[in-house]
Amino acid sequence: MIVDENSNDVSIPPKNLRWQAERTARENMDHPRENLETMLPEEIGQIFHELRVHQIELEMQNEELRQTQIELDAQRERYFDLYDLAPVGYCTLSEEGFILEANLTAAILLGITQSKLVGRLMSGFVHKEDQNNYYLYRKNFFRSDEKSSFELRLLRENNPPFWAHIMTTAAKNSDNISIVRLVMSDITEKKIYENELNRITQYDALTNLPNRVLLSDRLSQGMAQSQRHGLPLAVVYLDLDGFKEINDTHSHEVGDHVLITLSDQMKQTLREGDTLARIGGDEFVIILLDLKTIEDAIPMIIHLLDATSTPINVDHLLLQITASLGVTFYPQAQNIDTDLLLRQADQAMYQAKLAGRNRYHVFDTQQDTILRERYEFIETIRKAMQSSEFLLYYQPKVNMRTGAIIGVEALIRWQHPENGLLQPAMFLPMIEDHPLSIELGEWVINTALTQMELWQNQGLDIHVSVNVSARQLQENNFVNRLQEILAIHPKINPAHLDLEVLETSKLEDMNRTAQIIQSCREFNVLFSLDDFGTGYSSLTYLQRLPIATIKIDQSFIRDMFNNTNDIAILSGIISLATAFHLNIIAEGVETIEHGELLLKMGCEYAQGYAIARPMPASELPHWSATWHSHSEWINQLVFE
Ligand code: C2E
Ligand code: MG
Ligand code: MG
Repeated sequence: MIVDENSNDVSIPPKNLRWQAERTARENMDHPRENLETMLPEEIGQIFHELRVHQIELEMQNEELRQTQIELDAQRERYFDLYDLAPVGYCTLSEEGFILEANLTAAILLGITQSKLVGRLMSGFVHKEDQNNYYLYRKNFFRSDEKSSFELRLLRENNPPFWAHIMTTAAKNSDNISIVRLVMSDITEKKIYENELNRITQYDALTNLPNRVLLSDRLSQGMAQSQRHGLPLAVVYLDLDGFKEINDTHSHEVGDHVLITLSDQMKQTLREGDTLARIGGDEFVIILLDLKTIEDAIPMIIHLLDATSTPINVDHLLLQITASLGVTFYPQAQNIDTDLLLRQADQAMYQAKLAGRNRYHVFDTQQDTILRERYEFIETIRKAMQSSEFLLYYQPKVNMRTGAIIGVEALIRWQHPENGLLQPAMFLPMIEDHPLSIELGEWVINTALTQMELWQNQGLDIHVSVNVSARQLQENNFVNRLQEILAIHPKINPAHLDLEVLETSKLEDMNRTAQIIQSCREFNVLFSLDDFGTGYSSLTYLQRLPIATIKIDQSFIRDMFNNTNDIAILSGIISLATAFHLNIIAEGVETIEHGELLLKMGCEYAQGYAIARPMPASELPHWSATWHSHSEWINQLVFE
């Protein structure tokens, strides 16, 4: 049987039919081949009869085939209907991710016609935030024969993206080329439902605040962030005082109202990123992230206390409530997990209750006291700044040999109302890590520049050096701030201002520090390296930092007559300075002998009690008018 491929009919060509009929006649009649003309009419009749029988049989077969074909066609159509209108989208992808084939549902899902879909890259329909995921999934498309499935957001033309569940199977096409069959379905509704479910399981129904489940999640994330940023976090456990009475005296509705209002009030005191969670009837936990110092948590905690004690108006009732807070910090000396942190904060909260409620308590009494004292001290300094209790003393720097005054160093003092004049060692170390030290540092620069203007008006044109802490120097906007302060004093030549930075201080990022110093050099402000010789990487500093002067630490001068090592170090430092073409000045020159020896060693600049003690600004004009160098120093030859 031959199937004519050009028509849908399945038929037997007539020529073959006759040949078949004749052969059948030959076989069936079982006698030698004869011409039709020589045959008897009955025989011919017989053959015709046989032929008709065959023909009928064939026609019947033909009819059956035609029916089968019709059914096949119908099935084929049904298949295409099913394929096209299936509830899921089908696509075939090439190994490179191009869409080779797609059903109608896929086209509808992606908001594009079937014909336009073919030939496009599947990745073109993937949401930009899911591109990386898609890339990872795609890498696995051809890895195994197993079906893989994943979820991502797909784009639909002119419509919001939708969540799709995608299942893929690796296959080969008829040319044995790898392809991927991809089935996709829209699961946006399921996702919405899932989110809602998450909300129910992670948030408190009354206040809509995170519940305990979400809190512990946030806390672990916060701890990881604290490690990454190198900034501490605080965990605050807050329990309302006497909330039960409100419920008992009034109603639960009033109680609920109080909780909702308090939550809102507390939330307003927090920064973006902080967490406020409700973990029980009247218990809340707050996570304060990215604290610059742990003391920074205190004002926020005080705001929380204030927020809870603000009176609340419910049904014409004015209700006031307070809270007890327990605080703990992360990181700690020991490794600690979320549960233990919460327990510490809870325990501290209990201490706050015991101590009389409406207060906070920091976990670990020792830490608590230190923290409170530091916080109070910083507040005192802040107030002292506001009441102008700080002032600058100035100590001259001279050339011992010529007597020339090369400048003065500004040194901060605190005129304390009760304790008298305080030296910087009494207060600077306590605020070293606090942002307030930056404010104070800027005050010093500004005050020194103002003083220079005043002296200038009196005819005293003098260079002033100001100490800057490493922290201040490494502030992001140090260079800008310095320029801004200089701009307030346009009469002052920036070259007359010198900045002293402590060598031992933590100059963490050497490249950045070098850049900052270089930027300042560009507008003529030069740097000295203070207390040189006390740090451990002096040579590195000299090589890397574009400084102009080094100040030899007074400890080497003090002992130079008793300690031969110090003499060796001193001459080492002096030759280093010469090698690096730096100016060198000795600090703490207390006696004439110290000066003599220094001059002999090749150091002619000095600062110290043998020249002058630090003095108030008002005394400097007189001092500079009357100063003359010691006769032992004058005209002493260097390298005698
Ligand atoms: P420093 O920058 O090395 O300042 C020199 C210190 O040595 C001053 O102490 C000064 O009074 C003292 N001194 C000067 N000559 C002699 C001497 O012959 N013998 C002895 N024993 N001491 C002498 P002061 O004023 O107490 O300052 C101590 C440190 O405090 C300064 O050391 C500086 O590091 C820091 N400091 C002072 N003012 C400021 C400031 O405004 N900002 C910053 N960040 N630090 C400052
Ligand atoms: Mg100094
Ligand atoms: Mg010094």
